[in-house]
Amino acid sequence: MPLMAQIIDGKAIAAQIRHTIKTRVSERLEHGLHPPGLAVVLVGQNPASEIYVANKRKACEEVGFLSFSFDLPDTTSQVELLKLITQLNRDNSVDGILVQLPLPTHINSQAILEAIRPDKDVDGFHPYNVGRLAQRNPILRPCTPYGVMKLLENTGVDLYQQDAVVVGASNIVGRPMALELLLGGCTVTVCHRFTKNLRAQVERADIVVVAVGKPNLIPGEWVKPGAIVIDVGMNRLADGKLCGDIEFTAAAERASWITPVPGGVGPMTVAMLLHNTLFAAEELHS
Ligand code: NAD
Repeated sequence: MPLMAQIIDGKAIAAQIRHTIKTRVSERLEHGLHPPGLAVVLVGQNPASEIYVANKRKACEEVGFLSFSFDLPDTTSQVELLKLITQLNRDNSVDGILVQLPLPTHINSQAILEAIRPDKDVDGFHPYNVGRLAQRNPILRPCTPYGVMKLLENTGVDLYQQDAVVVGASNIVGRPMALELLLGGCTVTVCHRFTKNLRAQVERADIVVVAVGKPNLIPGEWVKPGAIVIDVGMNRLADGKLCGDIEFTAAAERASWITPVPGGVGPMTVAMLLHNTLFAAEELHS
């Protein structure tokens, strides 16, 4: 059967966003304003985190931001990390602070995230920023769900009154995703590992967003004909290839729009991090 769905090209949409940001940074410099600064903190040596951090730093430099790198050993104590956060909170050349997760187990991640000044929390994970989103008045929005909203916007489909199903309920993706879709006018259901009948929920979704981390968790035949399918999952297979959580080929035969993995949500997460950092520099620190 031929592919029916239109592909949502996250790579191209993210490139457009980065281009706009780069232009805005040049304009700032022409007006004698400082370039936005992003501090990226990595603790320990998680190979996946090292790749994510390298991508974020590179993206920062490409748009003309100042990138401040802090690569700390995994023996770093919570007190030492909190000291660094305090220093970055006070530094006027730093508009955004990102602490790459996961942190080593001896560090309380929540304590670290809550120590970041909310107006420099460009990941959007601080309870203040999540609370603002929950109260329909967001400031700095969690990057991956925000990126998904931009992808949905790009389809031109009106979200109002759509039935959206989010699979996955983590603090960094599933929960803020549900809040974003609610804000967008959808009727939202959130599924997780204890959901009784996942198939029945997915089958009735006009929009399905999956963020679990299990290859092929969602068979294509579960997708409602004409649905919009967003795959946040990123799984490395034994042969080294990347895949999402949804059976792509079968889902694409039923969906109206679908994101590929790679090249869908992933590039948007980095683009929205840059967007948040510029927003912090322009709107929160000017
Ligand atoms: P997580 O492990 O924190 O959360 C997974 C969620 O999935 C949990 O809420 C859990 O209840 C739910 N779940 C587990 N098994 C399930 C099942 N059988 N049925 C329904 N729900 C189930 O993961 P996370 O940090 O939210 O990440 C999820 C995926 O998204 C991972 O593959 C991660 O790599 C990817 N991710 C991608 C990006 C990106 O930029 N593309 C960003 C963040 C995360």
